[in-house]
Amino acid sequence: MHSSDQQGTRFQRKPRLSVPQKRVLLGGGLLLATALMWPSPEVTTGQRIALPLVLTSAVNPGLTGQDAIEALAPKPDFTATISAGDTLSQLFERAGVDQQTMYQVLEADLTVLALDTLQPGNTLRFYMDDNHQLTRLELDFSLARQVVFTLVDGSYDVEEIHKQGQWQPKSVSGDIYGSFYVSASKAGLSASQIQRVESILKEKVNFSRDLQAGDRFSVVVSEQYIDGDASGASEILAVDIVNRGKSINAYQFSDGQYYDAKGESLARAFLRTPLVKSYRLSSHFNGNRRHPVTGRLAPHNGTDFATPTGTQVIAPGDGIVSLVTDHRFAGKYIVIDHGNQYRTRYLHLSKSLVRKGQRVTRGQPIALTGNTGRTTGPHLHYEFHINGRAVNAMKAKIPMASRLTKSQMGSFQAMVSQRDLQMGV
Ligand SMILES: [Zn+2]
Repeated sequence: MHSSDQQGTRFQRKPRLSVPQKRVLLGGGLLLATALMWPSPEVTTGQRIALPLVLTSAVNPGLTGQDAIEALAPKPDFTATISAGDTLSQLFERAGVDQQTMYQVLEADLTVLALDTLQPGNTLRFYMDDNHQLTRLELDFSLARQVVFTLVDGSYDVEEIHKQGQWQPKSVSGDIYGSFYVSASKAGLSASQIQRVESILKEKVNFSRDLQAGDRFSVVVSEQYIDGDASGASEILAVDIVNRGKSINAYQFSDGQYYDAKGESLARAFLRTPLVKSYRLSSHFNGNRRHPVTGRLAPHNGTDFATPTGTQVIAPGDGIVSLVTDHRFAGKYIVIDHGNQYRTRYLHLSKSLVRKGQRVTRGQPIALTGNTGRTTGPHLHYEFHINGRAVNAMKAKIPMASRLTKSQMGSFQAMVSQRDLQMGV
């Protein structure tokens, strides 16, 4: 994928449909006001203002800011909110988009594989031109994440947009009576935040056995807001549980990983590659790769290993299999969620050795490599994602060390003191 800076830039560019319209709207609003005060026909001459803009302002003077912009944005020709059981072909068919176009979109999606991760509640918006050709397809995964396909010169470009928004920390604490889940939920943590806390501390405490009535917990959580609305994304910054008088804690450091107050890592280390032996790298990660012929941006979001078909793939870290599927271009592929912010993906496999929902441990065989989907030969395409973004698995800072270095401890301890204050511990 792209670096976060690029994402930021891309996002700035993203509302290119609406920003110029906003200017027009403001101009239009001003003009309307002027027109009301001085109803002269000259006022509307010499400026290109689309009539519907003025009408919208006139008909609904209560519309302001974002609402007005949304009211003015081009209307999709077909909008669908995913329900359980929907298939992609059905959705495209309902939108009136032919199968060949769907395959073109799927092909563009090879670098993101967004269509395979649509969930009930996600929204798709189809835009067509006068010839009923799909010109733009928007997938809304959340307020903070959108994937957009755009028709350019007869095929589709894909763009993944992450909105940064504002992150606001909040402190939540309480006493444990009944399960941790019930107590934390009463105190105001969401289900996903509670699961995250349990996942961060899973090596330190058994939440179903070790906790007892009267134990106390404190959490600092940072929540994302997009234009004032909670996006649902959040991060646990610190957690402290006083269990039978003893403090069990975790703090997120600037590297994104969790450590206890002494600077010991809480995540089990990852293996750098998901293979037992080393193989030649036949293609490196390159987030800015361009297609040699078309010049189109065609990022290579993974690392390719020249593995003969049938080579065993092992889980590089503990996790849960979140997807096993077949894709026209990615071939047979598997996705593993490793808790916290890590996810790995394995493409072009010949065989999966695991099922969706299965728990896997580091070093466990999960698949055999192959040559499925669109390939130029047998290989393993391996992706490592941090917080939903593909990174170079061969270079990224992934949890491989067990503790912070002496030089990191100074800033770490300063952060720990600040978090303890926020948690009141
Ligand atoms: Zn590859």
